[in-house]
Amino acid sequence: MSIAQHLQDIRASLPGGVTLVAVSKTKPDGMIMEAYEAGQRDFGENYVQELADKAARLPKDIRWHFIGHLQSNKVKYIAPFVHLVHSVDSLKLLQEIDRQGARHNRVIGCLLQVYIAGEDTKFGLEFDACEALLAEAGNGLLRHTSIKGLMGMASLTDNPAQIGTEFASLGRFFSRLRTTRPGLDILSMGMSSDYKTALENGSNMVRVGSSIFGERSYPARP
Ligand SMILES: *Cc1c(COP(=O)(O)O)cnc(C)c1O
Repeated sequence: MSIAQHLQDIRASLPGGVTLVAVSKTKPDGMIMEAYEAGQRDFGENYVQELADKAARLPKDIRWHFIGHLQSNKVKYIAPFVHLVHSVDSLKLLQEIDRQGARHNRVIGCLLQVYIAGEDTKFGLEFDACEALLAEAGNGLLRHTSIKGLMGMASLTDNPAQIGTEFASLGRFFSRLRTTRPGLDILSMGMSSDYKTALENGSNMVRVGSSIFGERSYPARP
């Protein structure tokens, strides 16, 4: 099946109001353009250099999502154009994104990455640290970042019950936070293998790579 057909099938399976981010990390420009020609505009990358290079070459109306672990000293390379950073996990990083946003006279959308997996290999904030960061960021001093929601990744496991439990916990946390925070609209959760479970638990943004572009030959999660 072609990339366009994969995209069509996945879009058909998404309820209204859900954004599909096509995760194109490691994939060549030609494949991204195939998806672009099929109408896809949101793409996700998780290596800073690769993203900066692709953004320079590819159409300017692509909305680039940064979904990998982000080091503060690399923010400057993506700050001029990045649409949404999914992986904010510290005040220090948020402040640096804000500083770079100011340099480019723009407001950079951010999601706080929340740790939900039952393993210690993933980045992210615990629930209470996430609330603390929201409180600190809510003091009005950060004008060039906008926290738009949360992102989470489930454990790398074949156990659907565990994935369901992890997504449900983040779904509940997100619903609770939203009652007091009107700007918090995005819940980025779900990848190729688990996005259906994520949708059942309130996700409204899914990050799908291999089901669109095929398997990758180098590691999915550095
Ligand atoms: C690679 C990646 C994805 C997409 O993974 P697939 O299994 O290929 O769909 C989603 N989110 C993050 C953070 C990733 O690094």
